[in-house]
Amino acid sequence: MNDLQPIVQLPADGSALLIAGPCSAETEEQVLATARPLARGGVRIFRAGLWKPRTKPGGFEGVGAAGLPWLARVRRETGMLVATEVATPDHVAAALDAGIDMLWLGARTATDPFAVQELADALRGRDVPVLVKNPLSPDLELWLGALERLHDAGLRRLGAIHRGFGSLDRGTYRNAPLWSVPIELRRRLPQLPLLCDPSHIGGRRSLVEPIGRRAMELGFDGLVIEAHCSPDEAWSDRAQQLTPEQVLRLAAGLAPRRGDATAEQLEALRREIDRCDDRLVGILARRMEVARAIGRWKRSHAMPVLQARRYDELLTRRAAQAEEAGMSADFMRELMRVIHGESVRQQLEECGEGTTADGKR
Ligand code: PEP
Ligand code: MN
Repeated sequence: MNDLQPIVQLPADGSALLIAGPCSAETEEQVLATARPLARGGVRIFRAGLWKPRTKPGGFEGVGAAGLPWLARVRRETGMLVATEVATPDHVAAALDAGIDMLWLGARTATDPFAVQELADALRGRDVPVLVKNPLSPDLELWLGALERLHDAGLRRLGAIHRGFGSLDRGTYRNAPLWSVPIELRRRLPQLPLLCDPSHIGGRRSLVEPIGRRAMELGFDGLVIEAHCSPDEAWSDRAQQLTPEQVLRLAAGLAPRRGDATAEQLEALRREIDRCDDRLVGILARRMEVARAIGRWKRSHAMPVLQARRYDELLTRRAAQAEEAGMSADFMRELMRVIHGESVRQQLEECGEGTTADGKR
């Protein structure tokens, strides 16, 4: 995917690319009352969900195609580009017929390769920017797969939206951010525009700003923020929508994309990682020295190199210690297995040294 084209021109001043608008289009008045102040404040892309995939039946499932003329009016009256979510080929046809400028695939859709393929087929040959939200689970290959299906259908103006992941332990978030996943996506596809949706990660108004700031510090290209003219009365995602004024204030306070401060912070963090790794290698070298000394002792006392009980205790103790320190027990067991394997190899080598044919020194 090294032939991607920009979804839109990124702001030349390095400011964040901002997409804002309501979770759902509800009425023509609500859509326009939200769009106008955003446009006046310089937001260039307006989002609104028309077809809303709801976890449970009975919720507000969107106004559907009835809202398309409202978005066309936003476009005409404010000059903003308009974007909406598509989940079926019918949505794609209706949105493109109505002149919608940008489409996105929601998290639930991105989770289903059959649905993504149907959308890719419906979009084949059309030059429209498409943003793909991450799937519900932290599965980078599935996210990449959705982007590849669209790319294989000839789409080149692609982007990704990080909206967090469902998990049993969400902590303070509605959807756990697991930043390492979008960071790995950026490493794999550095030219792919990467946006963050802090509204769906946070799920609460007060979290939108800090999460958005964090994303920009991590080098994201922009943000997708839910905005509503009257958030407390929103028909969906009420707790997380901001007023247009709050969105503009948030945007004004963001650091520029890839600003010097960010680059310096990153450099400092990388130096710190290098220092940690230097110490790690030094400590491992010392551990191997000790292991070889133990090997010599075992040999002179005719003890076997591998003592299963000691090895088992070591794994259990370090796994528990790792969990206390915020690492996974599985990770630590795996790491100790690898380290122990090298120790055993070195001990065997040490025992082999100076060994005569009859096994005596
Ligand atoms: C949305 O953007 O309103 C939405 C439904 O988001 P997600 O697909 O991320 O849940
Ligand atoms: Mn929403």
